[in-house]
Amino acid sequence: MLENKFKLVAGPCSAESFGQLDIIAEEVKRAKNFYAFRAGIWKPRTSPGCFEGYGETALQWLAEIKKKHNISTMVEVASAEHVSLCMQYGVDILWIGARTTGSPFAVQEIADAMTAFPNIPIWVKNPISPDFALWIGAIERLQVAGVKNVGAIHRGFRQYNFKPYRNAPMWELMLDLRYQKPEIPIICDPSHIAGDNQYIESLCQTAINMETNGLMIEVHPDPEKALSDSKQQITPERFFKIYSSLIFRNDNTNIDKIEQYRTILSGVDNELLSLLAHRMKLIAEMGEIKKNENMSVLQLNHWEKVLKKCEKQCDKLGLSKKFVNEILSVIHKESVHVQNEIFDRKEG
Ligand code: PEP
Ligand code: MN
Repeated sequence: MLENKFKLVAGPCSAESFGQLDIIAEEVKRAKNFYAFRAGIWKPRTSPGCFEGYGETALQWLAEIKKKHNISTMVEVASAEHVSLCMQYGVDILWIGARTTGSPFAVQEIADAMTAFPNIPIWVKNPISPDFALWIGAIERLQVAGVKNVGAIHRGFRQYNFKPYRNAPMWELMLDLRYQKPEIPIICDPSHIAGDNQYIESLCQTAINMETNGLMIEVHPDPEKALSDSKQQITPERFFKIYSSLIFRNDNTNIDKIEQYRTILSGVDNELLSLLAHRMKLIAEMGEIKKNENMSVLQLNHWEKVLKKCEKQCDKLGLSKKFVNEILSVIHKESVHVQNEIFDRKEG
């Protein structure tokens, strides 16, 4: 099992040159509880035409970095071939990326390749969507294959139109994983949750408050010029500033459970607000259409149908009908108000 000590992973999103890796490694290796130097070698990009990593060439740079700085290296793998190349170049620790965790065939292929290297630690990022069973399933595939040191990484979950982060943190899933798999350490990746460097600090602190077992932070000497994830990377200088400002709790004092619930609730509030913003945007777009089509703002028949449908949902969800009706009525009033303003607007 992985040693129970806080683990700091830092390094660039992607390995871009030996010089870039060298500058970052020189700095981050000095951080307290430094565990591994991360660098993306093969980049699974969402859209075609983006930088996809330097592959084997970058593995050679990383092998030199490991030797020069005497540090452990950590690389994302998405296939058996990646595992085999990483082992050839002496990579110490592996992780499975969010896009791969969601693919049982790919995870099984990696698990099969790992049977030859049972002592190499491997960390599993949560899948892109909040499919808890897929996350657990990927961890179990590795455990069944005999990997001795499996860990998990919370990197947030994709949600349509979610703001202000790139991915929604779901701290309750992190807790569920802890309850179901107490032997698995869970570290948090604030860089991929945030998607924007301005949120890294507060997300690191929240993760610590949620008793994360470590952090994975993307660091780049010149984030604006980074070939991938440029908005969310931070300079080594900023990394140290943030890291030294974090408040760590005593190992033997259990953090106030109420605080953990507050953190989860604040995530849920964020989701509610994000959904409300999305709803109001749709209401405004619809207002323009109604105006152009000469329809009236208020369509009471339709609204009554909406209320009836929601009432049925209340029974299923165990919610009070009176409470839901009150909320829906406030939302409806605001929606009518927004559309009325669109109707009243004088076209210039
Ligand atoms: C990464 O760590 O650079 C990465 C691609 O992460 P994720 O799989 O979380 O998107
Ligand atoms: Mn990245």
